[in-house]
Amino acid sequence: MTDSVGAITARPEATFSGGEFGQIGAMVRERVLAVDVGGTKLAAGVVDPDGRVGSQARVPTGGRNADELFESLAGLVEPLLDAESVTGIGVGCGGPMSADGGLVSPLNIPQWRDFALAGHLADRTGLPVVVDNDAKALALGEGWCGAAVGNRDYLAMVVSTGVGGGLVVDGRLLHGAAGNAGHIGHVVVEPDGPACACGRRGCLETVASGPAIQRETGRPASEADLEVRRRTGDLVGQAVATVVNLLDIPLVVVAGSVALGFGVPFFEAAQERLDRECGLEFTRDARIVPAGLGADGPLVGAAALWHHARRRSEEAGVEGTS
Ligand SMILES: [Zn+2]
Repeated sequence: MTDSVGAITARPEATFSGGEFGQIGAMVRERVLAVDVGGTKLAAGVVDPDGRVGSQARVPTGGRNADELFESLAGLVEPLLDAESVTGIGVGCGGPMSADGGLVSPLNIPQWRDFALAGHLADRTGLPVVVDNDAKALALGEGWCGAAVGNRDYLAMVVSTGVGGGLVVDGRLLHGAAGNAGHIGHVVVEPDGPACACGRRGCLETVASGPAIQRETGRPASEADLEVRRRTGDLVGQAVATVVNLLDIPLVVVAGSVALGFGVPFFEAAQERLDRECGLEFTRDARIVPAGLGADGPLVGAAALWHHARRRSEEAGVEGTS
């Protein structure tokens, strides 16, 4: 049985042969072109087999329409591909997207609605392409060479312009029916709080995201005082406690400009809340910590999406031939 989440999109001539696929060593030593598609910037870089980001480039997310934006991305990617050889392309992108990552409609990029990003990139470069949610990219990247290395059960989340996350349970990245598992932004922390686009009130995203904090305080999140920093950490800790109690995950790593910018007061308040609300024997030691990859996180994560999809294809191939 195979599912199509984060599937590899390739032109026929770029499809791997079974022989290449079967060699774990070859897979581990691959260099990958990583792409991060965000609402404010597009970034691309070559990520080596140890998760180090080499040559990289970025441009503001612009373009009046879908094609112009894609040309801007192609202009970013092509010089890197000319300079260095890579095996494939991994792309982390804001959601929503179709379950196989084939069609993307990032909320904060109105130029792309049901845009065939993987297909266009594969056609343009001749390389196989994997596109998936940027929160899931973060989860895989942190497990590969960030703050979750060696852990089989954890949540990786972002507290930034939005609040989202990706879950790894039993050593496997969870996808869910439409590929959005781990979206902690819609766990309710204030039942009478602000209305959320999802139809509920007081979702974590409506009180802890950068725009929510600005709405509440009248100032950008970067100017938040100590009380706001602690309060935001407390709310994140409350939502995280729900996930820890539900899924038995002892580790939560947090990235994003709001969380990392708020720093120690945020993480202390989050951990205190977690300690108060995780009193079961199996949840008592749960920890919430800053993400380990810093500014390289999105590109390392995008490369990790590639390695992950490649491994899944190999597993499916092995199952299919046994
Ligand atoms: Zn919601």
